[in-house]
Amino acid sequence: MATKKVVVLGGGYAGISAAKTLEKKFKNRPDIEIQMIERNTYHTLLTELHEVAGGRVSPASVRIGLNRLFKTDKVQIIQDKIDNIDFNDQLLYSANGSYPYDYLVIATGSRPFFFGLQGIETLGFKLWSYKEAVVVRDHIYDCFHNASTVTNREKRKKMLSFVVAGGGFTGVEMAGELGEWKNKLCKQFSIDREEVSIYLLEALPNILNIFDPDLANKCKKRLEKLGVQVLTQCGIERVDKDGIYLNTKKKIEGTLIWTAGIQGNPYLENMDIKYDRRFRVEVNEFMQSVQHENVFCAGDTISYLYNEKPLPQIVETAVQSGESVAENIGRLLGEKKMKPFVPNYHGVMVSVGSVYAVAKLKSIKLTGLMATGLKHMVNVHYLFGIGGLPLIFDYLNHEFTDRFVTPRLDVIHNDPLHKNVTQF
Ligand SMILES: Cc1cc2nc3c(=O)[nH]c(=O)nc-3n(C[C@H](O)[C@H](O)[C@H](O)COP(=O)(O)OP(=O)(O)OC[C@H]3O[C@@H](n4cnc5c(N)ncnc54)[C@H](O)[C@@H]3O)c2cc1C
Repeated sequence: MATKKVVVLGGGYAGISAAKTLEKKFKNRPDIEIQMIERNTYHTLLTELHEVAGGRVSPASVRIGLNRLFKTDKVQIIQDKIDNIDFNDQLLYSANGSYPYDYLVIATGSRPFFFGLQGIETLGFKLWSYKEAVVVRDHIYDCFHNASTVTNREKRKKMLSFVVAGGGFTGVEMAGELGEWKNKLCKQFSIDREEVSIYLLEALPNILNIFDPDLANKCKKRLEKLGVQVLTQCGIERVDKDGIYLNTKKKIEGTLIWTAGIQGNPYLENMDIKYDRRFRVEVNEFMQSVQHENVFCAGDTISYLYNEKPLPQIVETAVQSGESVAENIGRLLGEKKMKPFVPNYHGVMVSVGSVYAVAKLKSIKLTGLMATGLKHMVNVHYLFGIGGLPLIFDYLNHEFTDRFVTPRLDVIHNDPLHKNVTQF
């Protein structure tokens, strides 16, 4: 019997969901080979990056070794970074060689988008990967440490000013963590809290536009309580080494953390596959490339209008589309008709620091500790689904017992991750 090879590219929420569904489906089929290619040795819990960047939990809490995720050896895990795909010859290329496929699932996620604004990509900090979260965390810590050794008021002010750009989930969660961590860092380095400025910038009239205004307002109030200045209808015009220039004509000198825009993964540029202007692959209702019928997409990589709206780039889309494409590949292999992808969203939640969150589940609204508890339960549910009880124990340990251990500065300063760290 001729062997068929299914390759899942990317070990994020979508890739793991696709690979695990394929594993379940084909575990007793020696004629079907499954490979998952991921550039890291671990799966990153992107939704929790702000907790690392804001010094709440240790970096280990958002990294889950890929070797912990599969019950059988049906899915062969390959650590490699794919640079090119030849869709005609059905080959994936990396610096190390090539990988053939019969069916391909592209699940390579997304990257920040800078709207062509000058200086942001090179001078701003990003929060879209494990490494970026660690760099942000260590930079913030360094700012407080260095400020405590400086007597010049202007210099201190610059070191203790932080701008989080983007009033969506990521920006709100990052600003909330920073608002909370600031109190501990001020105590640790004997700095007056009044000296620290944290801004959350949003170009639209409100933050968190995905929520009802009453919930968004509660988040705003909570942020303000933590000392975050929420500036709406306020965009960045440009950034240079002297500062961050706002459309309100104000200039802020300090650290910029950019969370305001998102695009697909730009490595697809110049590949022979149709993508939209933000590198998201154009697919049909089966999440199948409109150009190559043996290529499927899942998660943030998808460009598709469902009920005339783009599919949101969130975890539920990633997990559900991953399952759906795996099901459809199974159907194609069994010569059955494919089923369209029908998303089923349960709700949205956002945390503002460690003890406050807001959540909306269908028509139920929750705030405060109840919503925080719910967020933990959602994480526990996800982790149980991908790796069982050991991952839950690790999560509880990281969140509740093994809280952030102060990073050692000698380690920080020798870390190659810090090569391009800039402060305005
Ligand atoms: C800070 C932050 C907070 C968020 N908070 C929430 C939230 O609260 N709720 C929510 O629903 N969503 C949230 N999101 C969005 C959510 O994380 C994404 O929608 C989700 O991660 C998409 O899953 P994915 O599998 O498509 O991509 P990812 O999870 O990004 O996975 C893509 C994988 O592909 C790998 N990869 C990429 N390129 C290559 C290559 N060339 N070769 C090999 N491997 C490659 C990457 O290493 C990565 O592991 C947040 C995102 C961020 C960054």
